[in-house]
Amino acid sequence: MKASRIVVAGSLNADLTIYTERLPSPGETLHGHGFAINPGGKSANQAVSAARLGGNVTLLGAVGSDSNGEMLLASTAGAGVDVSHVRRVSEPTGVAIISVDARGENSIIISAGANGTLSPADMNPELFNGAGVVCLCLEVPLETVQAAAQAGHDAGASVLLNLSPYAAITTELAQLSDVLLVNSHEASQFLDGFIMPAPDAPVAAWLGAVEKFAGRGLHQVLVTLGAAGSMVLDAHNIDNPVVRIAPTAVDAVDTTGAGDAFTGAVAARLAAGSTLVEAARYASVAAALAATKKGTQTAYPSGTEVDAILQ
Ligand code: ADP
Repeated sequence: MKASRIVVAGSLNADLTIYTERLPSPGETLHGHGFAINPGGKSANQAVSAARLGGNVTLLGAVGSDSNGEMLLASTAGAGVDVSHVRRVSEPTGVAIISVDARGENSIIISAGANGTLSPADMNPELFNGAGVVCLCLEVPLETVQAAAQAGHDAGASVLLNLSPYAAITTELAQLSDVLLVNSHEASQFLDGFIMPAPDAPVAAWLGAVEKFAGRGLHQVLVTLGAAGSMVLDAHNIDNPVVRIAPTAVDAVDTTGAGDAFTGAVAARLAAGSTLVEAARYASVAAALAATKKGTQTAYPSGTEVDAILQ
């Protein structure tokens, strides 16, 4: 079966990363060890992850007319992503200031820059024709995300919404989303403080989360749990509404962008016809491999590398 086209609409950022023993407390100054500027931004990362895993990906976004913009166009196009609809604008390219500690944990501040100019008018329905999967995150204006979700829905695509960085969304956007991707913090924020059960909690405990998401119009949800793996919550799957995906054991050196590697991999596998559980299993391996190297896009695995572990 031929895989369907994936449209990723959203952000591209230059990641300015400092490596440090531990993350600073408020008011504290620390000596880091090492600095890097790498291509990033959730949507660019997701597009690269999907393309490296064999997806046919079109990226809709905006970058500045600066060297960071050049770097991002080169990295995404280099991974095989169609960037002909990434606009060059006068605002600076989006930037993320990232600190990564010795355990691979990170803290991040982003400045939207050009991403803030991506508008509903950029989500031309013609660009979504023939798309099987549309992949969205919240690093661009919410009305733009909603326009993209609508265009994807109207084109008959599966709309994947990565609710990150967390923001409250409209009921309409929730209902336009076929699959929600969240980490446990975002999941709790979305469900008004409902705490996610432990990964190994009985299915009955997770059914509470399935019901709460369904009550908000989300019937298929992937909850990522960092080193503890992920959960597939699927209210449509009467026999198996809760499936735990065990983590792939790796020596993590930088988990920045692991969630994006996961989302891109889910998009690639759904576009290729996998079930949600199959896609999550595959994505779990792809994201774990991404955590074994520094950086985001530059750390993402190929399909061959993922297949070698899945054998
Ligand atoms: P986010 O970066 O969005 O917060 P997570 O930290 O939950 O996302 O990571 C996304 C996915 O990446 C996890 O569900 C898991 O599959 C994988 N992952 C992240 N950290 C590790 C790790 N230390 N070991 C193995 N897999 C990991």
